Amino acid sequence: MNRALIVQVFKNRSYEIQPAIQKLIDKLLSLESEPLFLWDLTQFGNTKLPKTTAIVNFGPAKYCPSKTLGLCPFGRSGKCYAERPENFRPQVLPYRLKQAKFWLSTSGEDFARQFIEMYGRKRNKPTLLRLNESGDMFSQFCVDKVYTLARIIFEATGVKTYLYTHRTDLTYYGNTPFLSLIKSESIHVNGIGTEYRTVDRVTFEAKKADKKAFPNYKSNANNFFCPGSCKACKLCAFPPVPGAVIYNKIH
Ligand code: SF4
Repeated sequence: MNRALIVQVFKNRSYEIQPAIQKLIDKLLSLESEPLFLWDLTQFGNTKLPKTTAIVNFGPAKYCPSKTLGLCPFGRSGKCYAERPENFRPQVLPYRLKQAKFWLSTSGEDFARQFIEMYGRKRNKPTLLRLNESGDMFSQFCVDKVYTLARIIFEATGVKTYLYTHRTDLTYYGNTPFLSLIKSESIHVNGIGTEYRTVDRVTFEAKKADKKAFPNYKSNANNFFCPGSCKACKLCAFPPVPGAVIYNKIH
């Protein structure tokens, strides 16, 4: 498959795609599969996220664009948390490959339409949509698609979308009521409202002890701590202040 499909799907706007990423896209789109629907490719909750969070990936960590471009420190060091299950649980990689194909061949509008239909059929309604537990943006067309689908879904259902990215080379348009974008790690990226910074245990505890710099969640300081389970915490999806930095202890 090729750039022609991308151009067609994204309404004749052409996007610049690095050759390494184009190769990745071609490979993922060439995989044989039956017709794909969002309903079959959405997971509701996991060990860290509540069942009210719908999870959809752009693809496997093994074929992550940020890893391919050397933009993710975990991808570079071979310590990607998202890749672990792909190596040890045989059903995970094929499932994520299907998600990649679905993501690459579906427009933002069609993604939103399928989500809204699924929302209507679910008895336990999701309250959040988490994109990209594994994988990352392939190119600027993903950023634009995310904003499109998130806006349509929010307007129809009130469900907010959030996701993390390591793509420091793309253009973002800031956080909105329908979308929370979180930059993983410390490189400043224009247009991303929140940053999620992983530090070692000692640094984490020292920062926690520094009451002046980190007065607490309730203050209007912009430094926060990740409590480690999103089942009760909603800091990432609803950052309390613009420019929030959320510190996470490496695991
Ligand atoms: S800060 Fe809260 S929402 Fe964000 S990853 Fe940590 S537990 Fe989850």
